[in-house]
Amino acid sequence: EAGMAEQSENLLRTLLGQGFEGYWVGGCVRDELIGRAVHDMDMTTSALPEEIVGLFKHTIPTGIQHGTITVMLQGYAFEVTTYRVESTYENHRRPDEVTFVKEISEDLKRRDFTMNAIARAVDGTYIDPFGGRQDTEKGIIRCVGNPLERFNEDALRMVRCVRFASVFGYSIAKDTWKGLLSQRANLQFIALERIRVELEKVMSGNNPIRGLGLLRRSQLLDFAKVPVLCTRFDSDIIMGLNDVMHEPNSLKWALLLYAGGFSSDEAGQLLRKWTFSNQDKDEICNILRLDEQVKQVIRIQDSEISTEERRLLWIRVVLDRGRSTTLNWLKLQRTLPEHRQVFPLQWLDLFARWEHQMCIHHLKELNISGREVMQINNIAAGSWLGELLHQLLLSVAAGIVANDKNCLIEEIKRVNINHG
Ligand code: ATP
Ligand code: MG
Repeated sequence: EAGMAEQSENLLRTLLGQGFEGYWVGGCVRDELIGRAVHDMDMTTSALPEEIVGLFKHTIPTGIQHGTITVMLQGYAFEVTTYRVESTYENHRRPDEVTFVKEISEDLKRRDFTMNAIARAVDGTYIDPFGGRQDTEKGIIRCVGNPLERFNEDALRMVRCVRFASVFGYSIAKDTWKGLLSQRANLQFIALERIRVELEKVMSGNNPIRGLGLLRRSQLLDFAKVPVLCTRFDSDIIMGLNDVMHEPNSLKWALLLYAGGFSSDEAGQLLRKWTFSNQDKDEICNILRLDEQVKQVIRIQDSEISTEERRLLWIRVVLDRGRSTTLNWLKLQRTLPEHRQVFPLQWLDLFARWEHQMCIHHLKELNISGREVMQINNIAAGSWLGELLHQLLLSVAAGIVANDKNCLIEEIKRVNINHG
Protein backbone atom coordinates (compact mmCIF):
# COMPACT_ATOMS: atom_id res chain seq x y z
CA GLU A 1 0.00 0.00 0.00
CA ALA A 2 1.44 3.31 -1.07
CA GLY A 3 0.44 5.29 2.03
CA MET A 4 1.96 2.79 4.38
CA ALA A 5 5.20 2.51 2.39
CA GLU A 6 5.53 6.27 2.26
CA GLN A 7 4.97 6.70 5.99
CA SER A 8 7.45 3.95 6.84
CA GLU A 9 10.00 5.67 4.63
CA ASN A 10 9.41 8.93 6.52
CA LEU A 11 10.00 7.04 9.73
CA LEU A 12 13.35 5.68 8.50
CA ARG A 13 14.37 9.13 7.23
CA THR A 14 13.66 10.60 10.66
CA LEU A 15 15.99 8.02 12.20
CA LEU A 16 18.70 8.72 9.60
CA GLY A 17 18.31 12.46 10.13
CA GLN A 18 19.20 12.01 13.79
CA GLY A 19 22.35 10.06 12.95
CA PHE A 20 20.91 6.58 13.53
CA GLU A 21 20.77 3.69 11.11
CA GLY A 22 17.43 2.25 10.06
CA TYR A 23 16.22 -0.42 7.62
CA TRP A 24 13.18 -2.37 6.58
CA VAL A 25 13.75 -5.95 7.58
CA GLY A 26 12.24 -9.43 7.66
CA GLY A 27 8.88 -10.38 6.17
CA CYS A 28 8.23 -7.10 4.33
CA VAL A 29 11.56 -7.13 2.49
CA ARG A 30 11.11 -10.78 1.62
CA ASP A 31 7.50 -10.39 0.46
CA GLU A 32 8.36 -7.40 -1.69
CA LEU A 33 11.17 -9.34 -3.37
CA ILE A 34 8.86 -12.26 -4.05
CA GLY A 35 6.07 -10.00 -5.24
CA ARG A 36 3.65 -10.86 -2.47
CA ALA A 37 1.37 -8.40 -0.68
CA VAL A 38 3.19 -6.71 2.19
CA HIS A 39 1.27 -6.49 5.48
CA ASP A 40 3.53 -5.18 8.20
CA MET A 41 6.50 -2.99 7.48
CA ASP A 42 8.85 -3.90 10.30
CA MET A 43 12.01 -1.90 10.77
CA THR A 44 15.27 -2.32 12.58
CA THR A 45 17.50 0.46 13.88
CA SER A 46 20.64 1.28 15.80
CA ALA A 47 18.58 3.63 17.99
CA LEU A 48 17.82 2.36 21.49
CA PRO A 49 14.15 1.99 22.54
CA GLU A 50 14.17 5.18 24.63
CA GLU A 51 15.75 7.04 21.72
CA ILE A 52 12.98 5.82 19.38
CA VAL A 53 10.37 6.95 21.91
CA GLY A 54 12.01 10.37 22.05
CA LEU A 55 11.89 10.86 18.28
CA PHE A 56 8.20 10.31 17.59
CA LYS A 57 5.06 11.89 18.96
CA HIS A 58 2.99 8.76 19.28
CA THR A 59 4.68 5.53 20.37
CA ILE A 60 3.54 2.40 22.19
CA PRO A 61 6.06 0.38 24.24
CA THR A 62 4.82 -2.92 22.71
CA GLY A 63 7.80 -5.06 23.64
CA ILE A 64 10.13 -2.55 25.16
CA GLN A 65 12.17 -5.18 27.05
CA HIS A 66 12.83 -6.85 23.67
CA GLY A 67 13.61 -3.54 22.06
CA THR A 68 10.37 -3.26 20.09
CA ILE A 69 8.49 0.03 19.95
CA THR A 70 5.35 0.59 17.93
CA VAL A 71 5.49 3.95 16.21
CA MET A 72 2.18 5.43 15.01
CA LEU A 73 2.36 7.63 11.92
CA GLN A 74 -0.77 8.91 10.16
CA GLY A 75 -2.81 6.02 11.49
CA TYR A 76 -0.26 3.38 10.49
CA ALA A 77 1.44 1.25 13.15
CA PHE A 78 5.07 0.27 12.61
CA GLU A 79 7.17 -2.01 14.75
CA VAL A 80 10.65 -0.63 15.16
CA THR A 81 13.16 -2.90 16.86
CA THR A 82 16.63 -2.06 18.09
CA TYR A 83 19.45 -4.23 16.68
CA ARG A 84 19.60 -7.12 19.07
CA VAL A 85 20.71 -10.67 19.62
CA GLU A 86 18.93 -13.23 21.72
CA SER A 87 20.83 -14.34 24.79
CA THR A 88 21.21 -18.02 25.59
CA TYR A 89 18.34 -20.21 24.43
CA GLU A 90 16.81 -22.38 27.12
CA ASN A 91 14.54 -25.34 26.58
CA HIS A 92 14.71 -24.91 22.81
CA ARG A 93 12.67 -21.72 22.89
CA ARG A 94 13.37 -18.09 22.13
CA PRO A 95 14.50 -16.44 25.35
CA ASP A 96 12.86 -13.48 27.04
CA GLU A 97 16.18 -11.72 27.43
CA VAL A 98 17.82 -9.92 24.58
CA THR A 99 21.02 -7.94 24.22
CA PHE A 100 21.20 -4.84 22.07
CA VAL A 101 24.06 -4.74 19.58
CA LYS A 102 25.74 -2.09 17.46
CA GLU A 103 25.88 -3.82 14.09
CA ILE A 104 23.00 -4.75 11.84
CA SER A 105 24.97 -7.79 10.69
CA GLU A 106 24.74 -9.16 14.24
CA ASP A 107 20.97 -8.66 14.22
CA LEU A 108 20.54 -10.39 10.85
CA LYS A 109 22.55 -13.36 12.07
CA ARG A 110 19.98 -14.27 14.74
CA ARG A 111 17.14 -14.54 12.20
CA ASP A 112 15.80 -17.90 11.10
CA PHE A 113 16.08 -18.16 7.30
CA THR A 114 18.21 -16.43 4.71
CA MET A 115 15.15 -14.91 3.02
CA ASN A 116 14.10 -13.43 6.40
CA ALA A 117 17.55 -12.00 7.08
CA ILE A 118 17.63 -9.26 4.45
CA ALA A 119 17.57 -5.54 5.28
CA ARG A 120 16.64 -2.82 2.78
CA ALA A 121 17.74 0.78 3.08
CA VAL A 122 15.73 3.83 1.91
CA ASP A 123 18.19 4.28 -0.97
CA GLY A 124 17.14 0.85 -2.26
CA THR A 125 20.32 -0.97 -1.35
CA TYR A 126 20.21 -4.30 0.45
CA ILE A 127 22.17 -5.81 3.27
CA ASP A 128 22.00 -9.48 2.48
CA PRO A 129 24.92 -11.29 4.10
CA PHE A 130 23.51 -14.82 3.70
CA GLY A 131 22.40 -14.77 0.08
CA GLY A 132 18.70 -14.44 0.90
CA ARG A 133 17.89 -12.77 -2.42
CA GLN A 134 19.47 -15.58 -4.37
CA ASP A 135 17.53 -18.11 -2.31
CA THR A 136 14.22 -16.35 -2.97
CA GLU A 137 15.02 -16.36 -6.68
CA LYS A 138 15.67 -20.09 -6.57
CA GLY A 139 12.79 -20.72 -4.21
CA ILE A 140 14.83 -22.21 -1.40
CA ILE A 141 14.36 -22.07 2.35
CA ARG A 142 17.72 -22.17 4.05
CA CYS A 143 18.69 -21.62 7.66
CA VAL A 144 21.01 -18.77 8.53
CA GLY A 145 24.17 -20.55 9.68
CA ASN A 146 24.18 -24.12 10.94
CA PRO A 147 20.66 -25.64 10.67
CA LEU A 148 21.25 -28.13 13.42
CA GLU A 149 22.19 -25.37 15.85
CA ARG A 150 19.45 -23.03 14.71
CA PHE A 151 16.69 -25.62 15.09
CA ASN A 152 18.19 -26.73 18.37
CA GLU A 153 18.07 -23.15 19.71
CA ASP A 154 14.43 -22.62 18.84
CA ALA A 155 12.35 -25.62 17.78
CA LEU A 156 9.48 -23.48 16.48
CA ARG A 157 11.70 -22.63 13.51
CA MET A 158 11.12 -26.16 12.20
CA VAL A 159 7.38 -25.54 11.90
CA ARG A 160 8.07 -22.13 10.37
CA CYS A 161 10.31 -23.86 7.85
CA VAL A 162 7.48 -26.17 6.79
CA ARG A 163 5.05 -23.23 6.80
CA PHE A 164 7.18 -21.13 4.46
CA ALA A 165 7.87 -24.10 2.17
CA SER A 166 4.16 -24.78 1.98
CA VAL A 167 2.85 -21.23 1.61
CA PHE A 168 5.51 -20.11 -0.87
CA GLY A 169 5.84 -23.44 -2.66
CA TYR A 170 9.58 -23.38 -1.93
CA SER A 171 11.89 -26.30 -1.53
CA ILE A 172 13.90 -26.83 1.61
CA ALA A 173 17.70 -26.85 1.33
CA LYS A 174 19.16 -30.29 1.97
CA ASP A 175 21.13 -29.33 5.07
CA THR A 176 18.15 -27.48 6.46
CA TRP A 177 15.92 -30.52 6.00
CA LYS A 178 18.55 -32.78 7.59
CA GLY A 179 18.86 -30.39 10.50
CA LEU A 180 15.10 -30.44 10.92
CA LEU A 181 15.00 -34.23 10.99
CA SER A 182 17.77 -34.37 13.55
CA GLN A 183 16.15 -31.81 15.87
CA ARG A 184 12.46 -32.65 15.46
CA ALA A 185 12.11 -34.22 18.91
CA ASN A 186 12.63 -30.75 20.42
CA LEU A 187 9.21 -29.74 19.23
CA GLN A 188 7.90 -31.15 22.51
CA PHE A 189 9.22 -28.01 24.22
CA ILE A 190 7.14 -25.63 22.16
CA ALA A 191 3.74 -24.35 23.28
CA LEU A 192 0.97 -25.89 21.17
CA GLU A 193 -0.55 -22.48 20.59
CA ARG A 194 2.55 -21.27 18.76
CA ILE A 195 2.61 -24.37 16.60
CA ARG A 196 -1.09 -23.98 15.85
CA VAL A 197 -0.58 -20.39 14.68
CA GLU A 198 1.92 -21.68 12.10
CA LEU A 199 -0.38 -24.54 11.07
CA GLU A 200 -3.22 -22.07 10.53
CA LYS A 201 -0.96 -20.23 8.11
CA VAL A 202 -0.27 -23.50 6.28
CA MET A 203 -4.01 -24.09 6.03
CA SER A 204 -4.71 -20.56 4.76
CA GLY A 205 -1.95 -20.78 2.18
CA ASN A 206 -2.12 -21.85 -1.43
CA ASN A 207 -1.00 -25.39 -0.92
CA PRO A 208 -1.83 -26.90 2.48
CA ILE A 209 -1.46 -30.37 0.99
CA ARG A 210 2.21 -29.68 0.43
CA GLY A 211 2.59 -28.56 4.04
CA LEU A 212 0.80 -31.65 5.29
CA GLY A 213 3.03 -33.81 3.11
CA LEU A 214 6.13 -32.21 4.61
CA LEU A 215 4.75 -32.68 8.11
CA ARG A 216 4.04 -36.29 7.39
CA ARG A 217 7.41 -36.97 5.80
CA SER A 218 9.30 -35.29 8.62
CA GLN A 219 6.96 -36.76 11.27
CA LEU A 220 7.54 -33.44 12.99
CA LEU A 221 4.14 -33.23 14.68
CA ASP A 222 4.57 -36.66 16.21
CA PHE A 223 6.90 -34.88 18.60
CA ALA A 224 4.53 -32.14 19.67
CA LYS A 225 3.09 -32.44 23.18
CA VAL A 226 -0.16 -33.61 21.64
CA PRO A 227 0.45 -35.39 18.37
CA VAL A 228 -1.99 -36.61 15.71
CA LEU A 229 -3.82 -33.43 14.65
CA CYS A 230 -2.88 -33.74 11.01
CA THR A 231 -0.84 -36.88 10.73
CA ARG A 232 -3.57 -39.47 11.12
CA PHE A 233 -5.45 -39.05 7.89
CA ASP A 234 -6.55 -40.75 4.78
CA SER A 235 -4.47 -39.15 2.07
CA ASP A 236 -7.07 -39.29 -0.68
CA ILE A 237 -9.61 -37.47 1.45
CA ILE A 238 -7.23 -34.61 2.10
CA MET A 239 -6.97 -33.99 -1.65
CA GLY A 240 -10.39 -32.42 -1.12
CA LEU A 241 -8.59 -29.47 0.50
CA ASN A 242 -8.00 -28.24 -3.05
CA ASP A 243 -11.76 -27.81 -3.45
CA VAL A 244 -12.17 -25.69 -0.32
CA MET A 245 -9.15 -23.47 -0.83
CA HIS A 246 -11.13 -20.26 -0.33
CA GLU A 247 -13.28 -21.48 2.53
CA PRO A 248 -12.52 -20.65 6.17
CA ASN A 249 -9.93 -22.79 7.91
CA SER A 250 -12.57 -24.37 10.14
CA LEU A 251 -13.94 -26.27 7.16
CA LYS A 252 -10.44 -27.43 6.24
CA TRP A 253 -9.78 -28.66 9.77
CA ALA A 254 -13.12 -30.47 9.75
CA LEU A 255 -12.08 -32.19 6.54
CA LEU A 256 -8.76 -33.26 8.05
CA LEU A 257 -10.38 -34.60 11.18
CA TYR A 258 -12.97 -36.37 9.07
CA ALA A 259 -10.17 -37.93 7.06
CA GLY A 260 -8.53 -38.95 10.32
CA GLY A 261 -11.68 -40.76 11.39
CA PHE A 262 -12.22 -38.63 14.49
CA SER A 263 -15.62 -38.58 16.14
CA SER A 264 -17.00 -35.17 17.07
CA ASP A 265 -16.18 -35.81 20.74
CA GLU A 266 -12.62 -36.90 20.02
CA ALA A 267 -12.17 -33.92 17.74
CA GLY A 268 -13.44 -31.57 20.45
CA GLN A 269 -10.92 -32.85 22.97
CA LEU A 270 -8.09 -32.67 20.51
CA LEU A 271 -8.94 -29.15 19.36
CA ARG A 272 -9.12 -27.94 22.95
CA LYS A 273 -5.66 -29.31 23.65
CA TRP A 274 -4.42 -27.59 20.52
CA THR A 275 -5.79 -24.29 21.91
CA PHE A 276 -8.34 -23.64 19.19
CA SER A 277 -10.84 -20.96 20.18
CA ASN A 278 -14.22 -22.19 21.38
CA GLN A 279 -15.81 -20.71 18.30
CA ASP A 280 -13.51 -22.57 15.91
CA LYS A 281 -13.82 -25.75 17.93
CA ASP A 282 -17.61 -25.59 17.86
CA GLU A 283 -17.75 -24.84 14.15
CA ILE A 284 -15.51 -27.80 13.40
CA CYS A 285 -17.20 -30.22 15.80
CA ASN A 286 -20.69 -29.26 14.66
CA ILE A 287 -19.84 -30.34 11.14
CA LEU A 288 -18.71 -33.74 12.43
CA ARG A 289 -21.74 -33.95 14.70
CA LEU A 290 -24.08 -33.27 11.81
CA ASP A 291 -22.31 -35.97 9.86
CA GLU A 292 -22.90 -38.46 12.66
CA GLN A 293 -26.52 -37.44 13.03
CA VAL A 294 -27.38 -37.53 9.37
CA LYS A 295 -25.81 -40.96 8.88
CA GLN A 296 -27.76 -42.22 11.85
CA VAL A 297 -31.17 -41.05 10.71
CA ILE A 298 -30.91 -41.21 6.93
CA ARG A 299 -30.09 -44.61 5.57
CA ILE A 300 -30.11 -44.83 1.83
CA GLN A 301 -31.02 -48.48 1.44
CA ASP A 302 -33.97 -48.13 3.77
CA SER A 303 -36.83 -48.91 1.36
CA GLU A 304 -39.47 -48.59 4.10
CA ILE A 305 -38.98 -44.85 4.11
CA SER A 306 -40.59 -42.59 1.54
CA THR A 307 -38.84 -39.60 0.01
CA GLU A 308 -41.13 -37.29 1.95
CA GLU A 309 -40.24 -38.97 5.22
CA ARG A 310 -36.60 -38.64 4.36
CA ARG A 311 -37.06 -34.96 3.57
CA LEU A 312 -38.58 -34.41 7.01
CA LEU A 313 -35.75 -36.30 8.70
CA TRP A 314 -33.24 -34.14 6.85
CA ILE A 315 -35.04 -30.90 7.75
CA ARG A 316 -35.02 -31.99 11.39
CA VAL A 317 -31.24 -32.42 11.21
CA VAL A 318 -30.83 -29.00 9.61
CA LEU A 319 -32.95 -27.39 12.34
CA ASP A 320 -30.90 -29.15 15.01
CA ARG A 321 -27.48 -28.22 13.69
CA GLY A 322 -28.16 -24.91 12.00
CA ARG A 323 -27.82 -23.56 8.51
CA SER A 324 -24.14 -22.68 8.28
CA THR A 325 -23.06 -26.05 9.68
CA THR A 326 -25.35 -27.73 7.15
CA LEU A 327 -23.89 -25.83 4.23
CA ASN A 328 -20.37 -26.60 5.45
CA TRP A 329 -21.19 -30.29 5.76
CA LEU A 330 -22.54 -30.31 2.21
CA LYS A 331 -19.36 -28.66 0.96
CA LEU A 332 -17.26 -31.22 2.81
CA GLN A 333 -19.27 -34.13 1.39
CA ARG A 334 -18.78 -32.82 -2.12
CA THR A 335 -15.00 -32.85 -1.75
CA LEU A 336 -14.87 -36.57 -0.93
CA PRO A 337 -13.46 -38.98 -3.49
CA GLU A 338 -16.09 -41.21 -5.03
CA HIS A 339 -15.27 -44.37 -3.12
CA ARG A 340 -15.54 -42.50 0.19
CA GLN A 341 -18.91 -40.90 -0.47
CA VAL A 342 -21.63 -42.06 1.86
CA PHE A 343 -24.34 -40.23 -0.06
CA PRO A 344 -24.34 -40.14 -3.85
CA LEU A 345 -24.18 -36.69 -5.41
CA GLN A 346 -27.86 -36.76 -6.40
CA TRP A 347 -28.65 -37.09 -2.72
CA LEU A 348 -26.46 -34.18 -1.80
CA ASP A 349 -28.25 -32.16 -4.47
CA LEU A 350 -31.58 -33.14 -2.95
CA PHE A 351 -30.38 -32.26 0.56
CA ALA A 352 -29.20 -28.89 -0.70
CA ARG A 353 -32.49 -28.23 -2.49
CA TRP A 354 -34.55 -29.20 0.57
CA GLU A 355 -32.45 -26.97 2.76
CA HIS A 356 -32.74 -24.11 0.29
CA GLN A 357 -36.52 -24.37 0.28
CA MET A 358 -36.78 -24.03 4.05
CA CYS A 359 -38.40 -20.67 4.81
CA ILE A 360 -37.31 -20.54 8.45
CA HIS A 361 -34.55 -22.09 10.56
CA HIS A 362 -35.23 -20.84 14.11
CA LEU A 363 -38.01 -20.80 16.67
CA LYS A 364 -37.66 -17.06 16.90
CA GLU A 365 -38.72 -16.79 13.27
CA LEU A 366 -42.06 -18.50 13.99
CA ASN A 367 -44.92 -16.04 13.78
CA ILE A 368 -46.25 -17.10 17.14
CA SER A 369 -44.67 -16.87 20.58
CA GLY A 370 -44.55 -19.40 23.39
CA ARG A 371 -46.76 -17.09 25.44
CA GLU A 372 -49.43 -17.01 22.78
CA VAL A 373 -49.36 -20.80 22.50
CA MET A 374 -49.83 -21.03 26.28
CA GLN A 375 -52.80 -18.69 26.13
CA ILE A 376 -54.44 -20.73 23.37
CA ASN A 377 -54.03 -24.00 25.26
CA ASN A 378 -54.60 -22.38 28.64
CA ILE A 379 -52.10 -24.68 30.33
CA ALA A 380 -49.03 -23.67 32.37
CA ALA A 381 -45.68 -23.91 30.63
CA GLY A 382 -44.07 -27.32 30.65
CA SER A 383 -42.09 -29.62 28.44
CA TRP A 384 -45.15 -29.84 26.15
CA LEU A 385 -44.59 -26.24 25.11
CA GLY A 386 -41.11 -26.75 23.73
CA GLU A 387 -42.19 -29.92 21.98
CA LEU A 388 -45.17 -28.23 20.39
CA LEU A 389 -43.10 -25.25 19.27
CA HIS A 390 -40.54 -27.55 17.68
CA GLN A 391 -43.27 -29.45 15.94
CA LEU A 392 -44.61 -26.17 14.55
CA LEU A 393 -41.13 -25.15 13.51
CA LEU A 394 -40.67 -28.39 11.61
CA SER A 395 -44.06 -28.06 9.90
CA VAL A 396 -43.37 -24.49 8.84
CA ALA A 397 -39.77 -25.19 7.79
CA ALA A 398 -40.98 -28.11 5.71
CA GLY A 399 -43.59 -25.93 4.00
CA ILE A 400 -46.50 -27.95 5.40
CA VAL A 401 -47.95 -25.09 7.43
CA ALA A 402 -47.73 -21.42 6.47
CA ASN A 403 -45.85 -19.13 8.86
CA ASP A 404 -48.96 -17.10 9.56
CA LYS A 405 -50.50 -16.60 12.98
CA ASN A 406 -53.98 -17.83 12.05
CA CYS A 407 -52.62 -20.89 10.28
CA LEU A 408 -50.43 -21.65 13.27
CA ILE A 409 -53.38 -21.35 15.66
CA GLU A 410 -55.38 -23.73 13.44
CA GLU A 411 -52.47 -26.16 13.48
CA ILE A 412 -52.23 -26.03 17.28
CA LYS A 413 -55.93 -26.84 17.55
CA ARG A 414 -55.56 -29.71 15.09
CA VAL A 415 -52.64 -31.14 17.03
CA ASN A 416 -54.63 -30.85 20.29
CA ILE A 417 -57.55 -32.78 18.81
CA ASN A 418 -55.25 -35.50 17.48
CA HIS A 419 -53.75 -35.86 20.94
CA GLY A 420 -57.22 -36.24 22.36
P1 ATP B 1 4.80 -13.32 8.26
O1 ATP B 1 4.56 -13.07 6.84
O2 ATP B 1 4.08 -14.51 8.77
O3 ATP B 1 4.62 -12.12 9.15
P2 ATP B 1 7.55 -13.02 9.03
O4 ATP B 1 8.81 -13.55 8.45
O5 ATP B 1 7.36 -11.55 9.01
O6 ATP B 1 6.34 -13.75 8.31
P3 ATP B 1 7.29 -12.80 11.84
O7 ATP B 1 6.92 -13.81 12.85
O8 ATP B 1 6.46 -11.58 11.66
O9 ATP B 1 7.44 -13.58 10.47
O10 ATP B 1 8.80 -12.39 12.18
C1 ATP B 1 9.47 -11.28 11.63
C2 ATP B 1 10.94 -11.60 11.41
O11 ATP B 1 11.53 -11.97 12.66
C3 ATP B 1 11.18 -12.79 10.50
O12 ATP B 1 11.19 -12.41 9.15
C4 ATP B 1 12.54 -13.28 10.97
O13 ATP B 1 13.57 -12.47 10.47
C5 ATP B 1 12.47 -13.05 12.47
N1 ATP B 1 11.95 -14.22 13.21
C6 ATP B 1 10.67 -14.51 13.51
N2 ATP B 1 10.57 -15.63 14.22
C7 ATP B 1 11.83 -16.11 14.36
C8 ATP B 1 12.41 -17.23 15.02
N3 ATP B 1 11.63 -18.14 15.65
N4 ATP B 1 13.74 -17.38 14.96
C9 ATP B 1 14.52 -16.46 14.35
N5 ATP B 1 14.04 -15.39 13.72
C10 ATP B 1 12.72 -15.20 13.73
MG1 MG C 1 5.68 -10.44 9.94
